[in-house]
Amino acid sequence: MAKQQFKAESKKLLDLMINSIYTHKEIFLREIISNASDALDKLCYISLTDDKVNMSREDFCIKIKADKENRILTISDNGIGMTKEELSENLGTIAKSGSLQFKKDIGEEKKDTDIIGQFGVGFYSAFMVSDNVKVITKSYNSDTAYLWESEGTTGYTITEAEKETVGTDIIMHIKEDTEDEKYSDFLETYHLRMLIKNYSDYVRFPIKMDMEKSREVKPRDGENPPEFETYTEEETVNSMIPIWQKSKSEVSDEECAKFYKEKFFDPDDPTLTIRISAEGLVSYKAMLFIPEKTPFGYYTKDFEKGLSLYSSGVLIMDKCADLLPEHFRFVKGIVDSPSLSLNISRELLQHDRQLKVIAGNIEKKIKAELLKLLKNEPEKYKKFYSSFGLQLKYGVVNDFGTHKELLRDLLLFYSSSQMDQTSLKDYVSRMKEDQKYIYYACGETTSKIDKLPQTELVRDKGFEMLYLTDEVDEFVVTMLDEYEGKKFKSINSGDPELESDADKEKIEKQKEDYKDLLNFVKESLSGKVSDVIISRKLKSHPVCLSSESPVSLEMEKYFDTIPGENKVKAQRVLELNAEHSIFKTLDEAVKNDKLKAEKLAEILYNQALLIADMPIEDPSHFTELICEFIK
Ligand code: ADP
Repeated sequence: MAKQQFKAESKKLLDLMINSIYTHKEIFLREIISNASDALDKLCYISLTDDKVNMSREDFCIKIKADKENRILTISDNGIGMTKEELSENLGTIAKSGSLQFKKDIGEEKKDTDIIGQFGVGFYSAFMVSDNVKVITKSYNSDTAYLWESEGTTGYTITEAEKETVGTDIIMHIKEDTEDEKYSDFLETYHLRMLIKNYSDYVRFPIKMDMEKSREVKPRDGENPPEFETYTEEETVNSMIPIWQKSKSEVSDEECAKFYKEKFFDPDDPTLTIRISAEGLVSYKAMLFIPEKTPFGYYTKDFEKGLSLYSSGVLIMDKCADLLPEHFRFVKGIVDSPSLSLNISRELLQHDRQLKVIAGNIEKKIKAELLKLLKNEPEKYKKFYSSFGLQLKYGVVNDFGTHKELLRDLLLFYSSSQMDQTSLKDYVSRMKEDQKYIYYACGETTSKIDKLPQTELVRDKGFEMLYLTDEVDEFVVTMLDEYEGKKFKSINSGDPELESDADKEKIEKQKEDYKDLLNFVKESLSGKVSDVIISRKLKSHPVCLSSESPVSLEMEKYFDTIPGENKVKAQRVLELNAEHSIFKTLDEAVKNDKLKAEKLAEILYNQALLIADMPIEDPSHFTELICEFIK
C-alpha cells in the first residue's frame, strides 16, 4: 500500500512533538498506557451489554514487553482495537480525539465510563523515543487485523495483518542512544517498572510485565556456596486502586499516614490529613496533608510548592503550583479529577477554569480544617503554627493584604494574660468593657517586651497585650488594621489612650507648664528626635522612645537588616515622665545650668535608645557622661 501523508497541521505538530514539546521523553509510556487503558475501558463497557465480547472485568489487562537485543518495546492491550477506518482516522490526524467521539456516542450521562480522552497528541509521543512504530490492531467490530506503520513525519502505511485476538499491540523500535539521551533505558525492565510506578500506578487495569528474578536451586552444601538461577515471572506492576479513590471508611488513619510518608519522603506522620470528594460541576478527589515540621529549605526560593495532579489515576503533573495559594504552600498531597480538560502545555493548564474551581475549593477546605483543628485540638494547632505560622503571616501581608480576611482567624500571638498563644477572636472576647483597642508590643522576645517601661500602664489597667516577636508581626497588624471593629494599638505609639480623664487634664497642664523644658530638650537633641513630649504611658521609668510615623521603631530595625542605601527611619519621639525625680533635676538644670541640662538630655535619650533595644550612636561618650554625673 502506498504511503499516506499525515494531514498538514498534524505533520507540523508531529515535528514539534518529536523535537521539543515534552521535555520529559519518558512520559511517552504514560501516554501509550493511557490509550491502552481507554481501549480497555471501552470494551469493558460494551461487555456489560454484549455477550459477544465474552470477557469479564478481570480478563482485561495491559502487557509490556522489552526486547533489548532488537530494541523493541511492545505495549499490548486486549481492549476495543481499531478498524481500518479508525486507524487512519485516529492515527492519521493528530489531536483527533477518538475518545471524545466515543464519549459522545454513548451519551454524556453515562458517567461510569470515564475515559481519559483529552490528551490530544498522546499517541505521537511514541516518536520521541522510537524511529519506527507499528500498531497491529484488531477491532471488536472487525474480523480482519491491520498493521499501521510509520517512521515519523514521512507518513504511514496501513496493511492487513495477522492477529488472533481483539486488541492492539504498539510495537516501538527504540532509537539509538545519543550523547544527551540514553534511550536504552526504555528497554530496561527496572526502569520501565519505575516509570509505570511513577506515572501509571493507579491505572485501573493490571499492567503486567515479565520480571527477571532469582531463586535458590541448591542450598549451601559444606564448602560449596548456594546455587541460584534466574527466571522470569509475570508480575502486575501497578497497584491499580489509589488510596484517595477509596472511601473514608475503607482507609484507616494509619494507612493515610503511611501513604503520606512514602510518597512525600517524610519520616513524621502528618499533623492533618484532609480528604475531599467533590461531585458536581467539577468532580475530583483530593487527599491533602499538612506536615508536622517545616521541611528543609522551606522558607527559601528553592522550595517548590504544588499538589500532584492526576486524571483518573494517571499522573499529569508532579507539582501543580496553581492548585495551591502561596499562603498554604506547605500543604502536600494529590488531586485526581476525571473532568479536567487537560492539555499538554502548562500554560494552557494554568488558564483552565476547572482547575481554578478546584484550587478555590481546596483553599476554602484547608482553611476550614485548620479552624477545626484550632477549635478542637488547640495544642496540635499550636504545633502546626510553630512550623507554618510565619507563612500565614506573610500571607496576610503579601499581595497588598488581599488574603487578610481569609487568614486572620488562623493567626496566633502570644498574650500577656494567657501566657500562651491566643487567637484574635479569643482576645477580643476577653476585652474589658472600657478597652477600646487591641494592644500590642513589639520586641525581640517576650521577656524583653515584659521589661519595656511602656507596658506598665497597660498591665496596671488589666488590659491584655499581644507580644509581637516576629519581624513580620507589626506589618501583619498594620495590614489587618482592625479585628471585629477593634483597632490595633501599639503601646509604643505616641498616645495609647490609656489614661483617665483626670490624667489627661494633668498632662495637658504639664505640657503648658514645661513648654520651655520640652523645647530646650528638643533643640539640644535636634536631628535625633522629631519631638519631645510628656509621656502618657510611663509610670516608674523616666523615659522611653516612641514613633509618630507609620514606620515604627521595630520596623526601622527590620529595614536596617535589609541591605541597601536608603534606610527607612522612624520619626523618633522622646517621652519624658514628668512624675519622675530626674524630671525635676532636668527642670532645674534647664532653668539654671544649660550645659548640665544638655548633658542630661543626651543621657536620657541614650537610655531611651537602650531600652528600645536600639544602638546608641556614641557609647564611649555616653559612659563618660554617666561617670561625670555619678562621681
Ligand atoms: P487521545 O488519546 O487524546 O484520543 P491519541 O493520539 O493518544 O489521542 O490517540 C488517538 C486515538 O487513537 C485514540 O483516541 C483512540 O481512539 C485511538 N487509539 C490509540 N491507542 C489505542 C489503543 N491502544 N487501542 C484502541 N484505540 C487506540
